Amino acid sequence: MKPATAGATILVGVFGDPVAHSVSPAMHNRAFEALGLDWCYLPFHVSPADLGVALRALPVLGLRGVNLTIPHKEAALAHLDSVEETARLIGAVNTVVQEKGRLAGYNTDAAGFLDTLDEAGFDPGGARAVLLGAGGAARAVAVALAGRDVAALTIIGRTPARGEAIAELVRRRCRGPVTAVAWTPAAVRQELAGADLVVNATPVGMYPRGAEPPPVPARWLPERVFVYDLVFNPPATRLVRAARRRGLRAMGGLRMLVCQGARAFRLWTGREPPRDLMEAAGRRALRARKPPADTV
Ligand code: NAP
Repeated sequence: MKPATAGATILVGVFGDPVAHSVSPAMHNRAFEALGLDWCYLPFHVSPADLGVALRALPVLGLRGVNLTIPHKEAALAHLDSVEETARLIGAVNTVVQEKGRLAGYNTDAAGFLDTLDEAGFDPGGARAVLLGAGGAARAVAVALAGRDVAALTIIGRTPARGEAIAELVRRRCRGPVTAVAWTPAAVRQELAGADLVVNATPVGMYPRGAEPPPVPARWLPERVFVYDLVFNPPATRLVRAARRRGLRAMGGLRMLVCQGARAFRLWTGREPPRDLMEAAGRRALRARKPPADTV
C-alpha cells in the first residue's frame, strides 16, 4: 500500500486512553516551532481494543511515529515489526518510528532517566540505589541503573512478587546485588539509611493527591542521598520539597519526561530538540491542565 501524505506537514502524536491531559503535544510542538520544522504532534484517544488497528494505520495516514502511554506500552510489542533490545528487556515500548511502512519500537524512558542523572552530574556507578515501587516506571529505571554499574539495587514493593520480578529481570545485568524487599516501615527505614540514590516510582504525591504525605518520611533519608521523584505533576512534590528543605539534592520527574521526549524527537526527526524550551512548555501545560489524569 502506498503511504498517504499529509501535505507538507509531518505528523506524529501520542496514543493513550486517556490522553487529553498529556503534556507531550505542548513540549514537542514547542520544539518543532523552535527548530522551524513543519511538524505537528497530536493526541489520539485510542482504546486498548483498537491499538493494533491504530498502529497499522500509521503508514496509511502518513504519520512518522507515535509515543505510547497508559495503557498501551506493553500491548504494543505484539503489533510492531521490530523492537529494540532495551524495550524488549523492559517489556514496554513508548516510542514507535514508522519507516517505509515498517514499525520499529523503542523505549526512551530508561535512557531519558539516565540523561537526567548525567545532566544533574550524578554518577550512579558505585551508588547504592533504592527504588520505591515496582510498576512500569520502576522496571525502566531498574534496567537503566543495572546498566550503569550500581553497587547495589533494592526494589521496595507493596506487592512483593512485582518487586521480585524486576529483581529477577535485572540481576544478571547488575554488577552489585539486586534485592526485592516488601514495603514495611521497618524495611523502608533500614534500606533508606544506606542509600546514595532514592527513586520514587510510585504515584504517591501526584496531583490531585499532592496533599497526601510523601511515600517515605523525609527524616528517614540519610545525609548526602540524591532524591529522585518520578512524579512530574506537581514538578516539585512534597517529597522533593521536604528533601530540599533538609539540604539534600532532589529532583522531580518533569525533566525525565522532557528527556524521554527528546530522545523520541531525535528518533523521528534526526534533530536535537531544545530541552529547556520543552520543559518550559511542559510546565505551562501542567499549570493549565485539570485533574485527574497523569499521562505522558
Ligand atoms: P504503575 O505501573 O501503576 O506502578 C505503580 C507502582 O507504585 C506499583 O508498584 C504500585 O504498587 C506502587 N504504589 C502505588 N501506590 C502505592 C502506595 N500508596 N504505596 C506504595 N506503593 C504504591 O505506574 P508507573 O507507570 O510505574 O508510574 C509510577 C509513577 O511514575 C507515576 O506517578 C507516573 O506518572 C510516573 N512516571 C513518570 C515518568 C517521567 O517521565 N517522569 C515516566 C513514567 C512514569 P502495586 O505493585 O502494589 O500496585
